[in-house]
Amino acid sequence: MESTLTARDRVGVQDFVLLENYTSEAAFIENLRRRFGENLIYTYIGSVLVSVNPNKDLEIYSKAHMERYRGVSFYEISPHIYAVSDNTYRAMRTERRDQCILISGESGAGKTEASKKILQYYATTCPVADRMSTLRDCLLQSNPVLEAFGNAKTLHNDNSSRFGKYMDVQFDFRGAPIGGHILNYLLEKSRVVHQNHGERNFHIFYQLLEGGEQDLLSKLGLERNAQKYQYLVKGCCPRVSSINDKNDWRTVRKALTVIGFHEDEVEDLLNIIASVLHLGNTQFGEGKNGENQITTEPQLKYLSKLLGVDGAALREALTHKKITAKGEEMISPLSFEQAVAARDALAKAVYGRAFTWLVVKINQSLAFKDDVYNSSKGSSSVIGLLDIYGFEVFQHNSFEQFCINYCNEKLQQLFIELTLKSEQEEYEAEGITWEPVKYFDNKIICDLVEEKHKGLISILDEECLRPGEPSDISFLEKLEDTLGGHAHFVTHKLANAKTRKAVSREEFKLIHYAGEVNYSVNGELANQSGNSVLSQCFHREEVTDQKRPETAATQFKNSLAKLIEILMSKDPSYVRCIKPNDAKQSGRFDEALVRHQVKYLGLMENLRVRRAGFAYRRHYETFLQRYKSLCPGTWPNWQGRLADGVATLVQHLGYKPEEYKLGKTKIFIRFPKTLFSTEDSLEA
Ligand code: ATP
Ligand code: MG
Repeated sequence: MESTLTARDRVGVQDFVLLENYTSEAAFIENLRRRFGENLIYTYIGSVLVSVNPNKDLEIYSKAHMERYRGVSFYEISPHIYAVSDNTYRAMRTERRDQCILISGESGAGKTEASKKILQYYATTCPVADRMSTLRDCLLQSNPVLEAFGNAKTLHNDNSSRFGKYMDVQFDFRGAPIGGHILNYLLEKSRVVHQNHGERNFHIFYQLLEGGEQDLLSKLGLERNAQKYQYLVKGCCPRVSSINDKNDWRTVRKALTVIGFHEDEVEDLLNIIASVLHLGNTQFGEGKNGENQITTEPQLKYLSKLLGVDGAALREALTHKKITAKGEEMISPLSFEQAVAARDALAKAVYGRAFTWLVVKINQSLAFKDDVYNSSKGSSSVIGLLDIYGFEVFQHNSFEQFCINYCNEKLQQLFIELTLKSEQEEYEAEGITWEPVKYFDNKIICDLVEEKHKGLISILDEECLRPGEPSDISFLEKLEDTLGGHAHFVTHKLANAKTRKAVSREEFKLIHYAGEVNYSVNGELANQSGNSVLSQCFHREEVTDQKRPETAATQFKNSLAKLIEILMSKDPSYVRCIKPNDAKQSGRFDEALVRHQVKYLGLMENLRVRRAGFAYRRHYETFLQRYKSLCPGTWPNWQGRLADGVATLVQHLGYKPEEYKLGKTKIFIRFPKTLFSTEDSLEA
């Protein structure tokens, strides 16, 4: 007993509900810290998994580890991402209901790694359907490809996801994966043309330059030196110690082949990557007659070859604009600044379209192919994995950060609704009464952003579509008029005691659930509309597929609403990721930083709800079967009503009447200390 206690002191408790001082934030953090110190990065709050990024490779992801978690209950083995994977999988199989795993946490907290571990678990442990072995490879290989094109080094994370990703894995009636589908959300395209200090462009650029064969680079007109490219030098950070671009190139190249990209498709893709670099090096200067012209002819030549567009048309599109006034088309020259903006807009648009196309192609290779595998039609279930960009705050935050943080806000809302709701429903169904716990509901912030007519996005829409001369500043003023009284909205003019950090005159501040962020309104309106250069270079129909214009913000809002709908239709499991320090270091646990995350993730409330309720619940039959040997009265077999047998057993184990409740089909134990607390020490 004594050694168990020591072990427990050392490694903490594996489920926060076992904390004696469960309302104390200090005790909560101390438990996390202890476990982190012992490389136990996972801890439960009931069925929610809390994960602290170790920032180093732990030897806990081997095939043997996977095997240990197969078919085993949460409480019987130390917490792990595999336990969540396995439980979700079993729930899908036994209950025949679609599942989803929602992974949240701020940038660099470990969401993408978690989602990859889950996918690997399924790829390794699930049965393989006939003729479906290539699907497994496609599922796994889609990651390096999407990361190459959609991830980048930021100040928060060397491999930061710059797009949101929701992936469905489809299983047949035998539990074998038979298909997959990816939905992608708003790629941070501004990164293509600009990076903050210490950050990089998307990985693929550096991979191609470092790893691409000489022949290939020559064909693309590229030099093996990232410093030569304007779009790659803004962050002054071509190399990152944790990244091997050359090796990653090989991985990505192979992955593209595995997924089924033809050589000419890969060529098209790389042509686009190269043309973005050439665009970045396209410069403008004054011609003989004072007009603005392209001064870099070789770039133009490569561009027209790589993109397959007419050189003259491209030149025209980059230096002139078409205006339609009173039904007549007029051509007017662009100023130097306008030309640069047009060039950057084209680069972003081309890259964005390449990324979308990539996802389409990957989806084709993952698609469940009816003709190959027919027998399971109509009887398959799905596990959805959500891995989005985490909440982030930079020195300068633009529209894209606004979308990223709004998305996090929505997911927090979903977490709040579902964790509370599902608890309440279960108690109700089992006929057990309970007191709801108070928590901060961030719906107020979601509404501030998305409410019809008076939300931030509505106001942005109105300003963009309004005739006359809408400007960034008129947008800001409109925001002040409409949202000035809101507790979570601040501007320079409105700034007062409700905010600590200053707000400049071109910014508005949102007080998010996870922290305060200042957003710049500079260029906000221009970013919302369609891309005119693109439509001049390519066919108009190709570019604008909508009749009524919709701003980028509204598109994002609508796609998020659809995502929430998808998630709501499934049974959720949660992984809450925590970043232990801001320096990407291993072994460092910054208490203040962790406390902040624990707070805004609502983990204390989550724990209180779990504790106000019952931490442990099992169907009578399962419970009896498992523990009957601990009580002479129930051993070897209980003959009477199941509920009576369970009552006999828990009373024998010393539980007081207030410590457990017998529901209609399940036993609920408030605090399963004696039975289940030693498992980590056995593991450790
Ligand atoms: P973002 O929102 O920026 O995309 P994220 O939450 O997806 O961030 P990850 O990319 O998953 O963050 O993790 C950041 C880095 O932390 C990884 O590249 C890896 O080095 C390290 N890391 C995360 N989880 C683990 C883990 N379980 N084991 C070892 N290292 C990890
Ligand atoms: Mg990520």
